[in-house]
Amino acid sequence: MVKVGGEVDAFCTKCQLTLAHTVHAMVSERPVKVECNTCHAVHRYKGPIGAAKAAAKAAHGRPASARANGTARERPAAVSFEELLGGRNVAAAQPYSPKKTFAMDEVVDHPMFGRGFVSGVRDGKVEITFRSDVKILVHGRG
Ligand SMILES: [Zn+2]
Repeated sequence: MVKVGGEVDAFCTKCQLTLAHTVHAMVSERPVKVECNTCHAVHRYKGPIGAAKAAAKAAHGRPASARANGTARERPAAVSFEELLGGRNVAAAQPYSPKKTFAMDEVVDHPMFGRGFVSGVRDGKVEITFRSDVKILVHGRG
């Protein structure tokens, strides 16, 4: 039976080996503090079985590989603006004016937002998708 001052096999965190240890303290008949007979380090008791698990956990704990750096986030997964615009009649692009009335899918050149296309029409307003933004603009005020 293990007792304070007695010897017990334990995993030494310094030697990284299961070695004979001298028991320094016990709780409920289990050693909690031990001194390595080889290196004389005093540490918490780790049984040989727990040590095997701990070693396995340490081996698997490292990240499998370094994370890829940043290249993925520069390309949005969404369809590009050019692709969206490509299906529309760009040749018929007309400058934006609140006095004009725009229809769905018409291509619009806006003095501030650049080229866009009509992606929605409702109640005297027109939603135009530009390269960097989607704007709700008035139309049909002529
Ligand atoms: Zn040791």
